[in-house]
Amino acid sequence: MRTAFISHPVCQQHDTGSAHPECARRLSAIEDQFITTGLRDALRYVDAPEATAEQLLRVHTRTHVETVSAMIPDSGYARLDPDTIVSPYSLAAAFRAAGALIAAVDLVAAGEMDSAFCAVRPPGHHAESNRAMGFCLFNNIAVGAAHALEAHDVGKVAILDFDVHQGNGTEEIFADDDRVLFCSTFQHPFYPFTPVPPNTANRVNVPLDALAKSEEFRAAVTDHWIPAIERFEPEMIFVSAGFDAHVADDMSHVRLTDADYRWVSEQIVDVASGSATGRIVSTLEGGYELNSLARCVETHVRTLMGIQTPQPATGLE
Ligand SMILES: [Zn+2]
Repeated sequence: MRTAFISHPVCQQHDTGSAHPECARRLSAIEDQFITTGLRDALRYVDAPEATAEQLLRVHTRTHVETVSAMIPDSGYARLDPDTIVSPYSLAAAFRAAGALIAAVDLVAAGEMDSAFCAVRPPGHHAESNRAMGFCLFNNIAVGAAHALEAHDVGKVAILDFDVHQGNGTEEIFADDDRVLFCSTFQHPFYPFTPVPPNTANRVNVPLDALAKSEEFRAAVTDHWIPAIERFEPEMIFVSAGFDAHVADDMSHVRLTDADYRWVSEQIVDVASGSATGRIVSTLEGGYELNSLARCVETHVRTLMGIQTPQPATGLE
């Protein structure tokens, strides 16, 4: 399988302060892991372009884009909400993070690549059409999904979100769009504390208890996500890949392991091989414990590539 790895150096210049979990070291840990394991040489690296205003405005209001832009300080830091800190390079990083999804969709829709992984920050799935929140400025995956639907011959997409936090922004943006199936697993009740609406043919929210482990997570995917995806028959699959449900990640209480991230990646590849003809665009959301983040992203990308993943040597099976 041909898999693109899309990022941009400015994503590491989005400075959130010395004590913030959503930090530049997340991306350098992933890059180090890819170099150490030799995976870097097997991937096609692509520099993320900047998303255009037109591409952002498919999912965000003009007021939102202008407000975020106006809040960026010339020096030091500013807060868009209690958790969401921006600094001079944050806007450039946010435009590249959203642009990575545009490039990913263009490559995959054209058949040039089978799949793509976007290693970007700031993350995106909490950003609503008119609100930045939860470390997110623009909703990167929504920008990508809208691009597939508006600029390519793609009629229906599924967005699968396994971050431990509910993807409220993605859900809000596509709430009334029957071309989009949104499937999510998340710790509940938990941040973002937004209401979890009832499931529909286009929305499959599966809340997980705070102490959920592999069994509950895998049952959610097997019993709820997969049947919904098979019924919906998406033509391209998007993944909000957050790794903060890992047992080593103290951002949440859910206790997934490396093996669970390999397993869910395999399930996604398997279901994408049907109506979506294997087309997958995945992007980094959360994941704050650097060692498990780096390992699990490697596993996820190897699975997209169809390369057998080595057994983790962590004893976390
Ligand atoms: Zn998260």
